[in-house]
Order: sequence, then structure tokens, then C-alpha cells
Amino acid sequence: MRRRRDAKIVATIGPASNSKGCIGKLFDAGIDVFRLNFSHGTHEDHQAVHQSIREIEVERGRPIGILADLQGPKLRVGTFANGSEELKVGQQFRLDMDDTPGTSERVQLPHPEIFAAVEDGANLLVNDGKIRLRVVSHGEDFAETVVEVAGTISNKKGVNVPDLYLPISPLTAKDRIDLDYALSLGVDWVAMSFVQRPEDMVELRGLVDGQAAIMAKMEKPSAINHLQDIIDLSDGIMVARGDLGVEMPQEKVPVVQKKLLRRAREAGKPVIVATQMLESMIQSPVPTRAESSDVATAAYDGADAVMLSAETAAGQFPVEAATAMDRILTEVERDPYYKRVVSAASPAPGDTAADAITSSLSHIAGVLPLAAVFTYTESGFSAFRAARERPEAPLIGCTPHQETARRLALVWGVHAVLSEEMSNVDEMVSNAIRITMREGFGELGMIIAITAGMPFGRTGTTNMLRLTRLKELNGLSNTHDDG
Ligand code: PEP
Repeated sequence: MRRRRDAKIVATIGPASNSKGCIGKLFDAGIDVFRLNFSHGTHEDHQAVHQSIREIEVERGRPIGILADLQGPKLRVGTFANGSEELKVGQQFRLDMDDTPGTSERVQLPHPEIFAAVEDGANLLVNDGKIRLRVVSHGEDFAETVVEVAGTISNKKGVNVPDLYLPISPLTAKDRIDLDYALSLGVDWVAMSFVQRPEDMVELRGLVDGQAAIMAKMEKPSAINHLQDIIDLSDGIMVARGDLGVEMPQEKVPVVQKKLLRRAREAGKPVIVATQMLESMIQSPVPTRAESSDVATAAYDGADAVMLSAETAAGQFPVEAATAMDRILTEVERDPYYKRVVSAASPAPGDTAADAITSSLSHIAGVLPLAAVFTYTESGFSAFRAARERPEAPLIGCTPHQETARRLALVWGVHAVLSEEMSNVDEMVSNAIRITMREGFGELGMIIAITAGMPFGRTGTTNMLRLTRLKELNGLSNTHDDG
């Protein structure tokens, strides 16, 4: 089974989609990676979804990626005696550590780290930024504020503190337990929420210890200020536009999105554009024109993947949302301008043999039409580098490791396949020919480019490029005439 598009689709699973039947339909509609959102659901819920995905993977015979998204330090107010209160512009409102139920004048904010870091004049945003409070005085266990943007505040509403750097790890006690659980299930990617500093990714990498690839969710202004270091320390990033649009003025989000896409591409790390992409499809079977355009723009800007959140987790039309996403991307990729734009934006190659080889493929394709670029990869690294080039020819990432194949499900253009470890060049060429034809990428007589590293079985050794024609392989014959 082969998808006819390069950009990938991530879908969040939740109550609207957690049956095996629905997950299967989502895969068939075009989902490449499933997201388990640890902000919601129990471990048993995630375990059941994980198992269904792995069963579908076996039934469909295709590697499927699973992304565990850790909640991170979501800051929240306490509860109110009346459940909620109306705040009015200009009134004073106090936040403190007292756990007695809140009133129209005060409520608990059980996060001493905020009071330690807060400064007069700082903004505190409540309920996804709908209410804005400005701090006028503060002490070690309180902040007195003035309401600048009014609204209803209710039990446990989230608080964002865009102006503050909080000296806390983004991994809470809950995140650490969830991380252990997700790794024990065998997820392929782990995403960390509210990353503030490069050190946060160092901490996550230490805990994950190679069991999954790691992703930084870019949703704090402080993370954008340390963008390059965070990308360098991550395996991929997510443009988490929901919280990003609360933490910074929403009109800045599109500009930041484009910058994140450019930088991740330069680094050869996959980037997901997330949140509210087809938001109206939570209630409607068709997207708005503006939503279709948003998905298309992310694709033209070279995103590796676009993501569905509430649309598939809690919406009324999860499968329709996946189908709509698939159709928009497919249509964009039919446009000859698309390939030209994404290929032309190729960053300069790094000074490695892998980059010298992958960057030469576009020149080769200009002389000889290639049916496919066939990349042997152990860790996935050389497939990441090949994808960075956004080659015109389809990209096959062939690996003996299931975890590598699953991680590659997220990467632009890569059709991942599993095959046994190769032991010599002839075997490698025969195997590439067989797989390319079996997976529907080429017919007899067409030419493919094969990249590999020798000695076989070691990561980081890409040093070989071979061109070969697709031909009948008779049984055990290992001889080739590449002319
Ligand atoms: C976001 O804020 O855009 C995001 C993807 O994170 P979450 O869904 O966890 O809020």
C-alpha cells in the first residue's frame, strides 16, 4: 500500500475515535501517525488505543507512527464557591495560595513558582487568553492584579504567563509517570509541552534514553528565543499554535510558523504544524475555505506533517476530517509549482558524505529520470537527510529496524519499508529492485538511485550511491547488469 503524497498527517485519538474500527478507517483515510494526548484519558485508554494501532499495522502491512504527547506544567487556578465568577474591566482580582474556594475578588493559584518569578506589569492570561490580568503588586504568595480583558473565570481554568521565565522543568511528576508508561507501550515519538530552554530537551533525552525520538512543542516565547539550540537538541518540532497564540499576540503566529518551518528544514528535522487546522470540522462535515487554505499553506511551506487535534479526538466527523486533510494535501502536491517551491528551498548541504550523496540526487534526476530514491537506513538519519532535499523522485526508506520504520512515518516523502539486514552489494541491489517494484514505485526498465552505508549494519556510514535499472530477478541470481 502506497500513499500518493509526501506531506504526512497526524491525528489525535480521543473519545470520538478510540475504537479499533475508527482507527482503521482513519488509517485508510490517510493518517500516518497517531497522537496519544496524555492531557486526557487514563493509561488503560492509551494502552487500548496503542494495541489497536499495532494490530492495524499488522493487518495493513505498513509501519505506523505513534506520538505520545506529554501534558507538561499546565498552570491552573483553584475552584470557586459558585463554580464561576464574572470579572469586569478595571476591577482588582487577587491570586494567592489560599485553598478556600474563590470569590469575585480572589482565587487560589497553587503555583508558588509564579509568585517567585512574577514582576509588576506582567500579564497573566486565563482560559486560553480570553481573560487578561495585569499584576500591580505581588509578594511571595500572592499577586494583586487589575482586570484588563474581562470574562467568566471558572473552576480549574488554565493560566498562561507569557512574560515570565519559570525556573521549573517542563516535566511534572505526572509527565514522568506518563513517559515511563508511554515508553513501556513502545511509542515512537515523545513530545514535550511548554519547553522553555534547550536544557529541557537534554533532560527529556536522558530519560527517553534512545527508546523513542523526541519532539519539542514550540509554544512558549522563551523557546522561540532559543530556537536553534532546541532544534539541535530535538529529533523534530511541533508548531503548537494553540498555546503559542495565547503566549504571544496571535498575529505573530503565522510569521513564527514560517520561521520554525524554515529552521527545522535547514536542520533536516521533521516539523508538524498543529492545532485548529480544520477546527470547524468538529461540528461540520466540510472545512471552511480558510481552513483548506491554512493546510495548503503549511504544505507549500514544506511542512513534514499537519495535525488534527479535537477534529479527530472529540469531533463529530473524525474520518471526514482525515479525508479532507488528505484531499487538500493531494491537490496541492498535484500542482507542479508545489514540487518546484519545496525543492528550490533546499538548504545548503552539510559537509558529510551523506549530504554530498543526497544533494547530488537532484542533479542526477535532472539527467536521468528516477523512478525512486532508495535509501538504506539504520537509525533513519540518512532518510531524514534525503527528505531534507525534498527530492522530486519518491523516497523509499528501507531499514531492518521496526522502530526506525515507524519513526519515519512522520517524515516528509518517506515511504518506509522493513527488510532484513543486507550482507553484500549484490543482495542490496536485488532487494532494492524487488521492493521498488513490489511497492508500486516503478516498472521494468526504469532507473532507481540506491544510497547506503558500508560496512552494513552501522549507523552514520552513508557513503555509497548506485544507479540501477529495474529488471526481472530470476530466483537466486545475484548478478546485475546496471546498464
Ligand atoms: C497546542 O497548544 O497547539 C498543542 C498542540 O498542545 P495541546 O493540544 O497539548 O494544548
